[in-house]
Amino acid sequence: MFNLSHPKLVTLAETEGYAEVADFLEDYALDSIVPAICMAPNCDHTADLEPDQRAGFCEACGRPTMKSGLVIAGLI
Ligand SMILES: [Zn+2]
Repeated sequence: MFNLSHPKLVTLAETEGYAEVADFLEDYALDSIVPAICMAPNCDHTADLEPDQRAGFCEACGRPTMKSGLVIAGLI
């Protein structure tokens, strides 16, 4: 089930300069490194990580809460 309206996904796409989440996903769907965002409340740190990353270390808040945009969207 795709989820293109997740608030973190929208924030991530906007941070990367995309007005539409769908355009963001289209550009990164097949890449080996993709933008990821911290899922913790009050933290919107972004970094480029592996496409299937679900628990990456956040350098901003120190928690293992970094998720790739493709995972958040349900593409992976
Ligand atoms: Zn964080």
